[in-house]
Amino acid sequence: MPCRLVLFDIDGTLITDRGAAREAYDTAIREVYGYSGDLHRYDFSGRTDPQITHMVLGAAGLSDDEIDACLPRLWEIYLANLARNATPERVQTLPGIADLVDELSGRSDVLLALLTGNIEPGARLKLAAADLNRYFSFGAFGSDSPRREDLPPIAVERASAFDRHRFSGRDVVIIGDTIYDIRCGNPYGATTIAIASGKTAADTLLAENPHHFFSSAADRGGLLAAILGHDESS
Ligand SMILES: [Mg+2]
Repeated sequence: MPCRLVLFDIDGTLITDRGAAREAYDTAIREVYGYSGDLHRYDFSGRTDPQITHMVLGAAGLSDDEIDACLPRLWEIYLANLARNATPERVQTLPGIADLVDELSGRSDVLLALLTGNIEPGARLKLAAADLNRYFSFGAFGSDSPRREDLPPIAVERASAFDRHRFSGRDVVIIGDTIYDIRCGNPYGATTIAIASGKTAADTLLAENPHHFFSSAADRGGLLAAILGHDESS
Protein backbone atom coordinates (compact mmCIF):
# COMPACT_ATOMS: atom_id res chain seq x y z
CA MET A 1 0.00 0.00 0.00
CA PRO A 2 1.55 3.34 -1.01
CA CYS A 3 2.05 5.76 1.86
CA ARG A 4 3.13 8.78 -0.13
CA LEU A 5 1.58 10.39 -3.19
CA VAL A 6 4.48 12.09 -4.98
CA LEU A 7 3.44 14.85 -7.39
CA PHE A 8 6.03 16.13 -9.83
CA ASP A 9 5.95 19.39 -11.70
CA ILE A 10 7.23 19.12 -15.28
CA ASP A 11 9.00 22.23 -16.62
CA GLY A 12 12.17 23.05 -14.70
CA THR A 13 11.64 20.02 -12.44
CA LEU A 14 11.52 16.84 -14.56
CA ILE A 15 12.66 18.36 -17.84
CA THR A 16 13.68 21.44 -19.74
CA ASP A 17 12.21 21.71 -23.22
CA ARG A 18 14.76 24.40 -24.11
CA GLY A 19 12.10 26.79 -25.40
CA ALA A 20 10.09 24.30 -27.46
CA ALA A 21 6.76 25.03 -25.77
CA ARG A 22 7.30 28.78 -25.63
CA GLU A 23 7.96 28.89 -29.37
CA ALA A 24 4.93 26.69 -30.07
CA TYR A 25 2.76 28.92 -27.87
CA ASP A 26 4.16 32.17 -29.28
CA THR A 27 3.25 31.15 -32.82
CA ALA A 28 -0.20 29.89 -31.78
CA ILE A 29 -1.27 32.96 -29.78
CA ARG A 30 -0.31 35.26 -32.67
CA GLU A 31 -2.16 33.13 -35.19
CA VAL A 32 -5.34 32.61 -33.17
CA TYR A 33 -5.71 35.98 -31.40
CA GLY A 34 -3.65 38.29 -33.61
CA TYR A 35 -1.47 38.98 -30.57
CA SER A 36 1.43 41.23 -31.48
CA GLY A 37 3.15 41.87 -28.12
CA ASP A 38 6.43 40.63 -26.73
CA LEU A 39 6.00 37.41 -24.77
CA HIS A 40 9.58 37.57 -23.50
CA ARG A 41 8.60 40.13 -20.89
CA TYR A 42 6.49 37.49 -19.13
CA ASP A 43 7.72 34.83 -16.77
CA PHE A 44 5.51 31.79 -17.29
CA SER A 45 7.20 29.70 -14.58
CA GLY A 46 4.74 27.89 -12.32
CA ARG A 47 1.65 29.30 -14.02
CA THR A 48 -0.98 27.20 -15.74
CA ASP A 49 -1.42 27.40 -19.51
CA PRO A 50 -4.92 28.98 -19.22
CA GLN A 51 -3.62 31.42 -16.59
CA ILE A 52 -0.74 32.48 -18.86
CA THR A 53 -3.17 33.06 -21.71
CA HIS A 54 -5.48 35.22 -19.59
CA MET A 55 -2.49 37.15 -18.20
CA VAL A 56 -1.03 37.91 -21.63
CA LEU A 57 -4.25 38.62 -23.53
CA GLY A 58 -5.91 40.42 -20.61
CA ALA A 59 -2.96 42.84 -20.57
CA ALA A 60 -3.48 43.29 -24.32
CA GLY A 61 -7.08 44.41 -23.69
CA LEU A 62 -9.08 41.27 -24.47
CA SER A 63 -12.03 40.33 -22.26
CA ASP A 64 -12.25 36.95 -20.50
CA ASP A 65 -15.09 35.96 -22.84
CA GLU A 66 -13.05 36.85 -25.93
CA ILE A 67 -10.13 34.83 -24.59
CA ASP A 68 -12.19 31.78 -23.60
CA ALA A 69 -14.03 31.70 -26.95
CA CYS A 70 -10.83 30.88 -28.82
CA LEU A 71 -9.03 28.69 -26.27
CA PRO A 72 -9.88 25.38 -28.00
CA ARG A 73 -8.38 26.72 -31.24
CA LEU A 74 -5.32 28.02 -29.35
CA TRP A 75 -4.67 24.60 -27.81
CA GLU A 76 -5.16 22.90 -31.18
CA ILE A 77 -2.52 25.04 -32.89
CA TYR A 78 -0.20 25.01 -29.86
CA LEU A 79 -0.27 21.22 -29.62
CA ALA A 80 0.35 20.82 -33.36
CA ASN A 81 3.36 23.14 -33.07
CA LEU A 82 4.58 21.45 -29.89
CA ALA A 83 4.37 18.00 -31.50
CA ARG A 84 6.90 19.27 -34.04
CA ASN A 85 9.09 21.19 -31.57
CA ALA A 86 9.29 18.84 -28.60
CA THR A 87 11.77 16.38 -30.06
CA PRO A 88 13.91 13.93 -28.08
CA GLU A 89 16.92 15.96 -29.21
CA ARG A 90 15.52 19.16 -27.71
CA VAL A 91 13.75 18.04 -24.54
CA GLN A 92 16.23 17.14 -21.81
CA THR A 93 15.62 15.29 -18.57
CA LEU A 94 17.15 17.34 -15.76
CA PRO A 95 20.14 15.99 -13.78
CA GLY A 96 19.29 13.24 -11.31
CA ILE A 97 15.66 12.90 -12.42
CA ALA A 98 15.96 9.72 -14.48
CA ASP A 99 17.48 7.76 -11.58
CA LEU A 100 15.14 9.31 -9.01
CA VAL A 101 11.86 8.56 -10.80
CA ASP A 102 13.11 5.12 -11.77
CA GLU A 103 13.85 4.30 -8.13
CA LEU A 104 10.55 5.80 -6.90
CA SER A 105 8.54 3.89 -9.50
CA GLY A 106 9.94 0.62 -8.16
CA ARG A 107 8.83 1.30 -4.57
CA SER A 108 5.54 -0.10 -3.29
CA ASP A 109 5.22 2.71 -0.72
CA VAL A 110 5.13 5.48 -3.33
CA LEU A 111 2.52 6.45 -5.91
CA LEU A 112 3.91 8.73 -8.63
CA ALA A 113 1.83 11.33 -10.44
CA LEU A 114 2.03 14.77 -12.07
CA LEU A 115 0.98 18.20 -10.85
CA THR A 116 1.59 20.69 -13.63
CA GLY A 117 0.25 23.87 -15.21
CA ASN A 118 0.55 22.25 -18.63
CA ILE A 119 -2.65 21.20 -20.35
CA GLU A 120 -2.53 17.40 -20.29
CA PRO A 121 -1.84 16.76 -24.00
CA GLY A 122 1.04 19.26 -23.87
CA ALA A 123 2.42 17.59 -20.75
CA ARG A 124 2.27 14.21 -22.46
CA LEU A 125 4.08 15.49 -25.59
CA LYS A 126 6.91 16.92 -23.48
CA LEU A 127 7.26 13.78 -21.37
CA ALA A 128 7.10 11.52 -24.43
CA ALA A 129 10.15 13.28 -25.84
CA ALA A 130 12.01 12.52 -22.59
CA ASP A 131 10.57 8.97 -22.35
CA LEU A 132 9.04 9.76 -18.93
CA ASN A 133 5.32 9.15 -19.56
CA ARG A 134 5.67 5.51 -18.50
CA TYR A 135 6.26 6.61 -14.89
CA PHE A 136 3.15 8.79 -14.60
CA SER A 137 -0.24 7.11 -15.05
CA PHE A 138 -2.23 10.14 -14.00
CA GLY A 139 -1.99 13.65 -12.65
CA ALA A 140 -3.62 17.04 -12.28
CA PHE A 141 -3.10 19.49 -15.12
CA GLY A 142 -3.66 23.07 -16.27
CA SER A 143 -6.51 21.67 -18.33
CA ASP A 144 -8.26 20.69 -15.05
CA SER A 145 -8.16 24.20 -13.57
CA PRO A 146 -6.41 27.49 -14.35
CA ARG A 147 -5.68 27.82 -10.62
CA ARG A 148 -2.70 25.76 -9.53
CA GLU A 149 -4.01 25.71 -5.96
CA ASP A 150 -7.02 23.70 -7.23
CA LEU A 151 -4.78 20.93 -8.53
CA PRO A 152 -3.62 19.06 -5.38
CA PRO A 153 -7.14 17.86 -4.43
CA ILE A 154 -7.73 16.79 -8.03
CA ALA A 155 -4.54 14.70 -7.92
CA VAL A 156 -5.61 13.22 -4.55
CA GLU A 157 -9.03 12.34 -5.97
CA ARG A 158 -7.48 10.62 -8.99
CA ALA A 159 -5.04 8.76 -6.74
CA SER A 160 -7.91 7.37 -4.69
CA ALA A 161 -9.64 6.22 -7.87
CA PHE A 162 -6.34 4.67 -8.95
CA ASP A 163 -5.47 2.65 -5.86
CA ARG A 164 -8.32 3.28 -3.38
CA HIS A 165 -6.06 5.01 -0.88
CA ARG A 166 -6.93 8.56 0.16
CA PHE A 167 -3.77 10.56 0.70
CA SER A 168 -3.81 13.65 2.88
CA GLY A 169 -1.57 16.12 4.70
CA ARG A 170 2.15 15.49 4.67
CA ASP A 171 1.67 12.20 2.75
CA VAL A 172 0.99 14.32 -0.34
CA VAL A 173 4.41 15.42 -1.60
CA ILE A 174 4.65 18.26 -4.10
CA ILE A 175 7.94 18.69 -5.94
CA GLY A 176 8.58 21.73 -8.12
CA ASP A 177 10.89 24.54 -9.15
CA THR A 178 8.74 27.64 -8.52
CA ILE A 179 7.07 29.52 -5.69
CA TYR A 180 3.69 28.43 -7.07
CA ASP A 181 4.53 24.76 -6.60
CA ILE A 182 5.19 25.47 -2.93
CA ARG A 183 2.20 27.76 -2.47
CA CYS A 184 -0.30 25.33 -4.01
CA GLY A 185 0.57 22.71 -1.41
CA ASN A 186 0.41 24.91 1.67
CA PRO A 187 -3.40 25.10 2.10
CA TYR A 188 -3.54 21.28 2.20
CA GLY A 189 -0.64 20.73 4.59
CA ALA A 190 1.26 18.89 1.87
CA THR A 191 4.98 18.23 2.05
CA THR A 192 6.63 20.75 -0.26
CA ILE A 193 9.99 20.13 -1.90
CA ALA A 194 11.61 22.91 -3.91
CA ILE A 195 14.32 22.12 -6.43
CA ALA A 196 16.19 25.10 -7.88
CA SER A 197 16.59 23.43 -11.27
CA GLY A 198 14.38 25.90 -13.14
CA LYS A 199 14.44 29.67 -13.59
CA THR A 200 13.58 30.65 -10.01
CA ALA A 201 16.54 31.63 -7.80
CA ALA A 202 17.31 29.57 -4.71
CA ASP A 203 16.78 32.57 -2.40
CA THR A 204 13.33 33.19 -3.85
CA LEU A 205 12.34 29.56 -3.28
CA LEU A 206 13.75 29.49 0.25
CA ALA A 207 11.75 32.61 1.12
CA GLU A 208 8.58 30.53 0.60
CA ASN A 209 9.67 28.13 3.36
CA PRO A 210 9.34 24.80 1.54
CA HIS A 211 9.72 21.80 3.84
CA HIS A 212 12.78 20.75 1.86
CA PHE A 213 15.09 22.48 -0.58
CA PHE A 214 17.54 21.03 -3.09
CA SER A 215 19.69 22.81 -5.66
CA SER A 216 19.14 19.92 -8.09
CA ALA A 217 17.74 16.39 -8.17
CA ALA A 218 21.25 14.97 -8.16
CA ASP A 219 21.09 14.40 -4.36
CA ARG A 220 19.06 11.22 -4.72
CA GLY A 221 19.56 10.05 -1.14
CA GLY A 222 18.50 13.40 0.29
CA LEU A 223 15.48 13.60 -1.97
CA LEU A 224 14.38 10.06 -1.14
CA ALA A 225 14.56 10.81 2.58
CA ALA A 226 12.59 14.02 2.09
CA ILE A 227 9.97 12.31 -0.08
CA LEU A 228 9.52 9.37 2.29
CA GLY A 229 9.54 11.55 5.41
CA HIS A 230 12.48 9.65 6.91
CA ASP A 231 14.10 12.81 8.19
CA GLU A 232 11.02 14.11 10.01
CA SER A 233 10.52 13.78 13.73
CA SER A 234 6.78 14.47 13.51
MG1 LIG B 1 8.03 24.25 -13.21
